[in-house]
Amino acid sequence: MLFEQLNLIEPILKALKTEGYTQPTPIQEQAIPIILDRKDLLGCAQTGTGKTAAFAIPILQILYNEKNKIPGNRAIKSLILTPTRELAIQIGESFTAYGKHTGIRHTVIFGGVSQKAQTDALRMGVDVLIATPGRLLDLMNQKFVHLHQISLFVLDEADRMLDMGFIHDVKKVISKLPTRRQSLFFSATMPPEISKLADTILVNPEKVAVTPVSSTVDVIEQSIYFVDKKDKKSLLVHLLQDKAIVTALVFTRTKHGADKVSKDLLKAGIKAEAIHGNKSQNARQRALTNFKSKETRVLVATDIAARGIDVEELSHVINFELPNVPETYVHRIGRTGRAGLSGVALSFCDDEEIAFLKDIHKLISKNIKVVEDHPYHMVMPEKAAYRDVKSKPANRTGQSRPFQRAERKWIGKPRTSHN
Ligand code: AMP
Repeated sequence: MLFEQLNLIEPILKALKTEGYTQPTPIQEQAIPIILDRKDLLGCAQTGTGKTAAFAIPILQILYNEKNKIPGNRAIKSLILTPTRELAIQIGESFTAYGKHTGIRHTVIFGGVSQKAQTDALRMGVDVLIATPGRLLDLMNQKFVHLHQISLFVLDEADRMLDMGFIHDVKKVISKLPTRRQSLFFSATMPPEISKLADTILVNPEKVAVTPVSSTVDVIEQSIYFVDKKDKKSLLVHLLQDKAIVTALVFTRTKHGADKVSKDLLKAGIKAEAIHGNKSQNARQRALTNFKSKETRVLVATDIAARGIDVEELSHVINFELPNVPETYVHRIGRTGRAGLSGVALSFCDDEEIAFLKDIHKLISKNIKVVEDHPYHMVMPEKAAYRDVKSKPANRTGQSRPFQRAERKWIGKPRTSHN
């Protein structure tokens, strides 16, 4: 199926083309028509399935069509509640990307930073508000936010809201929403408390579930290298001596880190380029083309820059630094092992990253094997990351692509868990 077959408006199709999206993912294919039909939705999907676009695209389309009916109304019409600042920012970026030709305005609010820029943006008027619960309640109490015209409400990652202790805040926000509204509820798992919450929010919802990405990662060969931070560069050069690594996508957490790693590789005689947000679109495109044609062997990227990169036949992903959000690990390694090809994901872990590794183990419900046979092995208190993980049998479904299999029916029991 193509996006053109989903009855989307031209300004959105044009933006999707720019993003390089051609085919909707299963959650998008199923959810977009339901949402455009103005029905409530219960979606069992986690990050990595394309769920953000599954709700952002139809919301933009609905608001775009309504805008033409009542021009000049700058009240907030859609509220998206999400548990973390990172997710809020990512959702905001998605609205920017898919909505750039629609004139629909949005802003993102989250705690831990000054509220000034956020309240300034709210004063200007926005159609869509993306928020974490605490800051939203705070700004509601200060009368910067009014929710009486919300017609579209999204609760994103409901189970994580529960894990993070936000459920009470979420309920408070919901009690302030108009009862006549369309609601979309997303959760990776459905423990009883979340089911109950969904029942109170949704009216006759359509149910959609997609296979969680964790089953995808099972077909990727993963390993961990414990290494001192200062030795990571040498370890990378050492590993890249292996000619079996035809191309590798190396992830760093920061733009500066990406530049540094690519420079170090060049010095060691390995053809590498960095791609990140500080580079022009042209420079990024060029680097990507060189990488796809295998002229560049190693592409060093930050997570944001790597969004949307889809390289066929990518054999190796190397995590030079572990991400602090475990789903990002799944995203990163999901770029290899596509289309039935085997994929290899190597991750470096220094002593400050042990906690991140522990979170990854919880998310993927298994322990990643440790490679000790390398010149920079560091003895680590690895038990901290390997304890407490109840290893589940790997879900070997033979699937190798994220987004591959979707089911129309609610699958009932959770298949993966954040805990
Ligand atoms: P999400 O699950 O919303 O976090 O999305 C996961 C990643 O998939 C993001 O990097 C999106 O940019 C990307 N993505 C979402 N939909 C599509 C699509 N239809 N085609 C290609 N990439 C997509």
